[in-house]
Amino acid sequence: MMKTDWTTDATAARRDAYYAASLTKFMPFREPLVFKKGQMQYLWDAEGRKYTDLLGMNLCISVGHSHPRVVAAAMEQAQELTHCTTMFYHPVPAHFAEELAATMPKGPNGDIEWVVHFTNSGSEAIDLAMTMARTATGNLDLLALRTAYHGPTAAAQSITGISGWRHPGMPGNVAFVPEPNQYRGIFGPGTQLYLDEIDRTIQSATTGRLAGMFIESVQGYGGIVEMPPGYLSGAAERVRAAGGLYIADEVQSGFGRTGDHMWAFEADGVIPDIVVMAKGIGNGFPLGAVVARKDVAAPMADKFMFHTYGANPTCCAAGRAVLQVIDEDKVQQNAKDVGGALLERLRDLKQRHPAIGDVRGRGLMLAIEMVKDRKTKEPDRDTTAAVFEACRDAGLIMSKSGPHQSVLRMVPPMCLSMQDVDNVADGLDAAFTAANG
Ligand code: PMP
Repeated sequence: MMKTDWTTDATAARRDAYYAASLTKFMPFREPLVFKKGQMQYLWDAEGRKYTDLLGMNLCISVGHSHPRVVAAAMEQAQELTHCTTMFYHPVPAHFAEELAATMPKGPNGDIEWVVHFTNSGSEAIDLAMTMARTATGNLDLLALRTAYHGPTAAAQSITGISGWRHPGMPGNVAFVPEPNQYRGIFGPGTQLYLDEIDRTIQSATTGRLAGMFIESVQGYGGIVEMPPGYLSGAAERVRAAGGLYIADEVQSGFGRTGDHMWAFEADGVIPDIVVMAKGIGNGFPLGAVVARKDVAAPMADKFMFHTYGANPTCCAAGRAVLQVIDEDKVQQNAKDVGGALLERLRDLKQRHPAIGDVRGRGLMLAIEMVKDRKTKEPDRDTTAAVFEACRDAGLIMSKSGPHQSVLRMVPPMCLSMQDVDNVADGLDAAFTAANG
């Protein structure tokens, strides 16, 4: 094996010199941090210091770093046949597709059939969902939410509402509607006014005929924005009335993370036409998937659609193991219980630290939003950055999110334990005190 230099400063210098660090500048700490090892919910840096990973390596680690059963499944497959092009049949992705389809709702008559297409990432899956929606409906126009994030490919950027993530020259035919943010949305708390705005936007900013609407069932980079009751079902109804499809982006919120359901859209009793997933699906192995109603996917069969690494058996073997671990280790229930306990502790913190304007979330998808003043709700980016740094000193890794980078997002591996909750809450308390929040 080639020798790797683990020295923190040398790694940081290489990264700055060769590694397009400018594109990832939103994340780093003031001092470089180099992770060498991960085990379940914990990470160790190159100097051997231990951290609790409240970011789950950006939600890719769903059931635990280097989870032994997932690693074993992937290694076994990699040693036998690392890749098999989808030009040939392979049983591992075929089984995995069947198992994923089985997680989807079947509808009141039990007759909804689902098909799966594997990609290598979330944004590729978003692109494919977009193509599928336009092919199935014959319409071009799309709706998305203003604080949406759907990925870095050109098509995914085109429906990403947060302007900091959108670059020049992205494809068009997209109209944005206000996010139903219950803390700081433009219509305040509630659902109806946000739904009315969907109708108005369809009339005023589109041709009146839609291909579809993309909605993260819980917004991630937007700052953990939950959809209020009735929003997803109401949006789906309006979009379908305009000829379009409802596309659920479950890239962050899926696989039981929100605690009550495998898929966060289920909380609203609505059934999407297309579901997009990635990140936690492979527990760190690169994989994405579009799961679509059979009739929605069928018109695509007239042309070719082929992802070279799609349905890679090594990644799909990891994915199958993830589903098995979720089931056998009662991961969703753990996300509900541990997430519920952590949310309680975050509410306590809000009592003591005036910089906290809001705490929110479900299961292990939680957030603290920082404000300069609880009345004006002016976002406090500087205190967020200071707390974020102080958390690192307390051994806690999380991320800054939201359009103003004023939200601390907590989305740990779903094996986080009740003992961790105490450490996390105490660490956050110390971090707020240190940052004078
Ligand atoms: N949708 C959502 C909600 C995401 O959070 C992301 C990634 N952060 C994507 C899509 C795109 O996924 P990827 O980065 O794997 O392309």
